[in-house]
Amino acid sequence: MTLKQQDFKDVDYLWDDDTANQLDPVERLRYRSNLLGADQRITNTGGGNTSSKIKMTDPLSEEEVDVLWVKGSGGDLRTSRRANFASLYMDKFLSLENIYDKAEVKGVKTEIEDAMVDMYRHTTYGLNPTASSIDTPLHGLIPFRHVDHMHPISVIAVAASKDQERLTQEIFEEEVGWVPWQRPGFDLGLVMKEKLKQDPELKGLVMGQHGLINWADDDKACYELTLSLIEKAARYIEKHDKGEKTFGGQKYHSLNEEERDKLLVQLLPKLRGMVSQKNRFIGTVHTTERVLQFVNSGDAPRLAEIGTSCPDHFLRTKIKPLYIDWNPRMESVENLVQKLETGLVRYRSDYAAYYESCKHPNSPAMRDPNPTVILIPGVGLIAWGKNKSESRVTAEFYSLAIEVMRASETISEYQGLPRQEAFDIEYWLLEEAKLQRMPPEKEFARSVVVVIGAGSGIGKATAHRVAAEGAHVVCADLSVEAAGQTADELIKKYGVGIGVAGTGLSGCGPAIALPVDITKRESIRSMFENVVLAYGGLDNVIITAGIFVSPDKQGYIPDDKWALTYAINATGPFLVADEAKRIWQAQGLRTSLVVTTSANAAVAKQGSFAYDTSKAAANHLVRELAIELSPLVRVNGLAPATVVEGSSMFPRDRVISSLTKYNIPFDESESTEALRDKLAVFYAQRTLTKSPITLADQAEMAYLLSSNKFSKTTGQIISVDGGLHEAFLR
Ligand SMILES: [Zn+2]
Repeated sequence: MTLKQQDFKDVDYLWDDDTANQLDPVERLRYRSNLLGADQRITNTGGGNTSSKIKMTDPLSEEEVDVLWVKGSGGDLRTSRRANFASLYMDKFLSLENIYDKAEVKGVKTEIEDAMVDMYRHTTYGLNPTASSIDTPLHGLIPFRHVDHMHPISVIAVAASKDQERLTQEIFEEEVGWVPWQRPGFDLGLVMKEKLKQDPELKGLVMGQHGLINWADDDKACYELTLSLIEKAARYIEKHDKGEKTFGGQKYHSLNEEERDKLLVQLLPKLRGMVSQKNRFIGTVHTTERVLQFVNSGDAPRLAEIGTSCPDHFLRTKIKPLYIDWNPRMESVENLVQKLETGLVRYRSDYAAYYESCKHPNSPAMRDPNPTVILIPGVGLIAWGKNKSESRVTAEFYSLAIEVMRASETISEYQGLPRQEAFDIEYWLLEEAKLQRMPPEKEFARSVVVVIGAGSGIGKATAHRVAAEGAHVVCADLSVEAAGQTADELIKKYGVGIGVAGTGLSGCGPAIALPVDITKRESIRSMFENVVLAYGGLDNVIITAGIFVSPDKQGYIPDDKWALTYAINATGPFLVADEAKRIWQAQGLRTSLVVTTSANAAVAKQGSFAYDTSKAAANHLVRELAIELSPLVRVNGLAPATVVEGSSMFPRDRVISSLTKYNIPFDESESTEALRDKLAVFYAQRTLTKSPITLADQAEMAYLLSSNKFSKTTGQIISVDGGLHEAFLR
């Protein structure tokens, strides 16, 4: 049987025989997995798993053996490659049942169940380093060649309904059985095996509160079965659609896009500060029609309180979201902030109570008690995570949970995961061990760093430097094309992350490009507003933008160029600080500002009045801002000298004018780079260290001044000039 897209309206049918038939059996599994993961209605990012039992040659005995290939721990079906699958000898894996059987105490959540996870490694085929997940027994103990375990919206909706067993029977009849909620592990595999023994005709099982598992002896048939079962549930739900009565009908009206952005710009920094008192968070705003239908509804407070059901959703969205009962048409932003403040206090104490009542003697310590999902009528959903990728995943999962609740309330009454079960997932020692194994967070992992002037030179080098420390980097520049190029380089290097969510700018990855003209307050304001909409707030600002207008042979520059030099080099940093101040103060989090000045600020000489005096003003601006913005913001100056390498401050005409000034011989036919090298060597000889000064040297200091390594330094100008005694500050 070959099905086609026409047979489905609720899932994407993507199988292509021509593609699949060119692949080896393991690659066919990878292919099937990618297709399933590509549709969020089939499974969520990182959720679900697939397997194939494949005949392979044993490298030692050279005999043919059965090998279970199954998605490994921490993988994602949509983006999985061969390396994301674990491989286990089937006979060795099945022999583990004897070990399990011999344990005195066994069953779900017993010690032996967790211990089994370590045993999987002993069954590894082909020295495959990919770790097996806790779902491995669900695949290994089912006696069919191919198994799909998905978290489809339509099936979780059935599985999270009050009368889930009856609904399963009504929708799937004899085709699919039902197992009540049980934490995944070896025991759940045995439960499924037993179920299949009792009824060998079963093609799959609805897993209470969790999802779907189904199987076939042919991989394409398994794929088509998965889609058909999901489609069947979706059509049943559609038949019962409640239309305008969904979620008990609409109680509030949405703000229009302009009103919403205006509110978010005001609200997000404040909110970020409130949830980030323990750990800093990055935000994602998700506003779709479906999300709005939920947050504006009469049932939202009741349903939000129940929390999510599928354990995968739940791990990111926490026990429940924080819902704020606020009327977007009648109440003010101040009302909203006040309600958020009291809501957060209540949320944290609810969370502590949940921890206290559910904890076991060996439970890990209580984690951050702040919500990761906040629901606001008229506005939408705001998710918080340790980085952009995670906050996007969290937004994705709660919006999927909204779909689940909508569908479940259409056909029955929605039920969440029981509290104790939720706790036993959240604080599962295996989860804790996974967290402990994660590499330590990088210094700027939870930070948003705005680099002004990121399109070239020191700014571009600095953007790369802070990105290497895990920063979310806003590449701002007068030329948005140049900024865009830097942001693209960063995305290419670090990836866009996982998670499918985020409205408008908020759907971004770890780097974005924004235009800014620092001589215009409105331009700076609009840039910062976009930063807030993209990430929910703002941490460090590093200004590298500057201008040097080459004087003519007599050292003269026109008045308008004199004014422009001051506007960019001195007034610009002030306007940036003044606009950022409002956001910094709303957040109330410690941050830093670095202003690039110049060694020229301290050296009086002939021929560059405007530049040198504007930089002297910038030096003193640093000191005054350090006082003005204390204690929240440290302000320091970085004073480079003559970085010639790749600098937009050294266009050909300036290089030539300098070479002429210092009587350095050159030929007009030489390339700009060659001329720059000549000048760099000359400058190096003037320094105490006799070394050319590079972009990387400047970027390193811009990073260090922003980092905690300089947490006790403010109001200072640090020279990175190779050592120029005439530029020593007194
Ligand atoms: Zn699952």
